[in-house]
Amino acid sequence: MSDIIPTIQNGYTIPVLDHGFVRYIDHMGTDTRIVEAARISYRSPSKGADQDQKLLEYLWKNKHTSPFEMCKLTLNIKMPIFVMRQYVRHRMQNLNEVSARYTQLPAEFYLPTVWRVQDTKNKQGSVTVEQPPEWHQRQAQRLMKLCDDAYAIYEAMLADGVAREMARMVLPVNIYTEIYACWDLKNLMHFITLRDDGHAQSEIQEYGRAIKSICRELFPGVVKAYEKYQWKLVEQ
Ligand SMILES: Cc1cc2nc3c(=O)[nH]c(=O)nc-3n(C[C@H](O)[C@H](O)[C@H](O)COP(=O)(O)OP(=O)(O)OC[C@H]3O[C@@H](n4cnc5c(N)ncnc54)[C@H](O)[C@@H]3O)c2cc1C
Repeated sequence: MSDIIPTIQNGYTIPVLDHGFVRYIDHMGTDTRIVEAARISYRSPSKGADQDQKLLEYLWKNKHTSPFEMCKLTLNIKMPIFVMRQYVRHRMQNLNEVSARYTQLPAEFYLPTVWRVQDTKNKQGSVTVEQPPEWHQRQAQRLMKLCDDAYAIYEAMLADGVAREMARMVLPVNIYTEIYACWDLKNLMHFITLRDDGHAQSEIQEYGRAIKSICRELFPGVVKAYEKYQWKLVEQ
């Protein structure tokens, strides 16, 4: 293991869904910081890159998670509000969100072109099945009409002098919102464990994967340990 010079810089952006993204802002710490923090227990120096990676994997596998909290990552994320409702359940992050009381939300709606049907085995889940193209188009047209109508009413209410905080009630949950979020790496890997997973809704999985790929650039040793022992951190 050796510290890499990240290839990503402030502003590095991964597009997600049709209008969303995960944008890297900045970070603190490296793989090495984690093993340094762990070694304070024994006041022992590094025994080289391979031993450091082994220690990192040992820490992860055995849930010695506090050294991972030494690393931080700040992201700018844009996602539909229905995804945000799942995302925000993760309490161990600091975040600020755009306010639809201060600003008019732009007409940016998540409009999927491929529609899934209800899974019969996993009651929460969905599956993609073969459907004629017209079936997908029908669902897309329904949603598009709803969004157009809702946004027209939103604008009409604003033009009528209705407060933004009230007019927003007519907007559907596929409209986009945007946040700044700061995570420690332990809790971020916990988020990835739960959301880059087939049990999570496919839209939030896309955010999980985008965030994981940023972590891979910054903390490659951690992501390697996670992929080797990913189910050992959280009991499913
Ligand atoms: C596939 C899937 C389906 C889901 N379905 C539903 C659903 O149907 N309904 C629903 O309401 N939610 C649902 N959730 C959300 C889920 O219950 C959790 O709220 C969410 O995953 C956040 O997990 P967390 O609490 O571990 O994470 P965080 O809030 O980020 O917390 C991280 C860790 O910090 C610790 N922690 C945080 N807060 C506390 C606390 N108050 N006390 C003690 N320890 C704490 C815990 O160790 C926790 O694991 C679902 C989640 C997933 C992944």
